[in-house]
Amino acid sequence: MSEPSGEERVSVYSDMSSECTVECPMCKGSAYLREALYEVPGVGRVLLTSLVCPRCGFRKSDMIPLQVRRRRRIYYRVESAEDLNARVVRSSVASVEIPELGISITPGAAGQFTVTNVEGILHLVKDAAKSAEVLEGERFGFAERVERLIREGGRFTVIIDDPWGISTIEPPEGSGSCKLIVEEVEGASEKS
Ligand SMILES: [Zn+2]
Repeated sequence: MSEPSGEERVSVYSDMSSECTVECPMCKGSAYLREALYEVPGVGRVLLTSLVCPRCGFRKSDMIPLQVRRRRRIYYRVESAEDLNARVVRSSVASVEIPELGISITPGAAGQFTVTNVEGILHLVKDAAKSAEVLEGERFGFAERVERLIREGGRFTVIIDDPWGISTIEPPEGSGSCKLIVEEVEGASEKS
């Protein structure tokens, strides 16, 4: 169990970086791969990679932990419109659940490392609602429900389950961190 303090920021500083040319996974042209080593507070050393293909425009970024972490489940209780501004860092292997909406988004093969906020997560949920991830019964009026949450806020819980243990949610300044629970799940990241 660890409670990130208000000072814990995702801001990172670079240690080393390199750039090389690789084959684009989409168009097989030459793409640039930039890799940089960072020290992220509360996470440790990570490798940030960013692939950009000038030919087809393909982009993919990822954050790979270099230190063994425990699987982490983060629970964030949203209670007001202000809470929608909480910063969310989601690793490419983390799934997102909102139990009140009956939705769970798995990262899939195209999982991307994303820095967003709770509102961004709701937009993600809205897009996912168009696919088969939402239970049939829930689908009617679902997009409208999410739309209203984006506009007005509301009470719901965001759960991020990250086998790599590097995702974070940072509540907005001064809103108190008591609505945030970070649970490290024992022994779940043993297998590779
Ligand atoms: Zn390409």
